[in-house]
Amino acid sequence: MAKDNTNKFDVIVIGAGPGGYVCAIRCAQLGMNVACVEKEKTLGGTCLNIGCIPSKALLSASEKFEEAEHHFKDMGINTTPELDLPKMMGFKDGVVKENTKGIEYLFKKNKITHIKGTGKIVEAGKIKVGDDEYEADSIVIATGSDVASLLGIEIDEKQIVSSTGALVLDKVPGHMVVIGGGVIGLEMGTVWRRLGAKVTVIEYLDEILPGMDGEIRKESRKIFKKQGIDFRLSSKVTEAKTSKKGVELSVEPANGGDAKTLNADIVLMAVGRKPYTDGLGLDDAGVTLDDRGRVEVDEFFESTLEGVYAIGDVIKGPMLAHKAEDEGVILAEMLAGESGHIDYNLIPGVVYTWPEVANVGQTEEQLKEAGIKYNAGKFPFMANGRARAIGMTDGFVKILADADNDRILGAHIVGPAAGDLIQEIVNVMEFEGTAEDIARTSHAHPTLTEVVKEAALAVHKRPLHI
Ligand SMILES: Cc1cc2nc3c(=O)[nH]c(=O)nc-3n(C[C@H](O)[C@H](O)[C@H](O)COP(=O)(O)OP(=O)(O)OC[C@H]3O[C@@H](n4cnc5c(N)ncnc54)[C@H](O)[C@@H]3O)c2cc1C
Repeated sequence: MAKDNTNKFDVIVIGAGPGGYVCAIRCAQLGMNVACVEKEKTLGGTCLNIGCIPSKALLSASEKFEEAEHHFKDMGINTTPELDLPKMMGFKDGVVKENTKGIEYLFKKNKITHIKGTGKIVEAGKIKVGDDEYEADSIVIATGSDVASLLGIEIDEKQIVSSTGALVLDKVPGHMVVIGGGVIGLEMGTVWRRLGAKVTVIEYLDEILPGMDGEIRKESRKIFKKQGIDFRLSSKVTEAKTSKKGVELSVEPANGGDAKTLNADIVLMAVGRKPYTDGLGLDDAGVTLDDRGRVEVDEFFESTLEGVYAIGDVIKGPMLAHKAEDEGVILAEMLAGESGHIDYNLIPGVVYTWPEVANVGQTEEQLKEAGIKYNAGKFPFMANGRARAIGMTDGFVKILADADNDRILGAHIVGPAAGDLIQEIVNVMEFEGTAEDIARTSHAHPTLTEVVKEAALAVHKRPLHI
């Protein structure tokens, strides 16, 4: 029940993922009376329950396992690790629980009313959850996304799993075939490879990590291949037959040709995600979707129905938790009468394998296509003292700066802690800074951040340590 025993709020947010819960918190901070509707038992959405957080817990645990198994001995530590998978899964579940409970605490702290159930929009200003009706000046759709599959291939979450099923396997598969060489496929494939599975990634395009800088895509694949992942590029899966023995896949060249059979114990479907609007009643309420099923919004996140807004995975833009959060904050501020702006070009993307892959801004391919003149600076981790000291020398940092004014236009990293290193460049780009700004800023020695500095120096053809 709402505050003051009424069902009337300033803002009702539907969905408690990173977009929805952050929007609710910011609205509350700005003095609004807020409710957040969530259909699942726990708060936090895809990200905290079946996405970012559990995948990173398993990536971190499996990375330590692989380190102990293969790399400790290089540093004079002899040990033979033994996998206790139920305990590793328990660790991951514990991390998820701590995080989702954390959102419950934040809701209480900010006096946000948590409405349990599925929200349906009746009309502008009115929603229904079960038989109960609630009113609000503003309604925010933050219902996120769901797993996508290929036509004719059904995800049963037993033998053909989505990322959700891949997070809860009860034994290490002998052979896991991952359909899709994007972020989620590579992260989950890496987890199970480290724990002992043979992993094959099938990708329709001629390179993995679509959308990233070409050189980084190629280098990342070389590193993942060296780690043991088998890649079938320019290939498509046309059929999947399950039996007690496993899954039999038909794989054809992307442009057509003879099909080959590939047998797997587990198939991970990782071809992307689609916006989730089931049960919201958008059609009847008059909220328009675009041709890809996303809620159509204007620059103020307002949908075609006045007073109904949408943020996060359910609208256009990269399907990333921090993008959803940023939109949640800005929308709350706009609802409070303030102004807000988000530069989608400056939203970083990270692949949490090891080495990590990270990017921000334009790729070389995009700059060439746009006819923008740029200078590129590149520096390898191999030439960095700290990278050698931690035994992680794969990869490089690449910075692309405008040839006329030296402003950084894009940065691309494959290497240790790439996801953390990219942030320095995001901040500099946010202030419209230059490669020179980074090159002349003191970077502690010995740190991996010196690779970023050297790449900035390399933009002006004067790296010091190579
Ligand atoms: C395996 C995996 C790993 C990922 N890793 C990362 C990562 O490392 N970094 C990153 O930035 N992103 C990552 N993502 C993406 C990230 O999870 C999403 O971008 C993010 O969760 C989107 O937030 P959201 O608030 O828009 O939606 P969601 O998090 O999907 O939340 C939507 C919520 O709305 C609820 N809901 C839906 N309909 C209704 C309704 N009618 N009534 C009530 N409640 C409803 C849902 O139950 C859900 O809780 C990952 C995703 C996956 C699957």
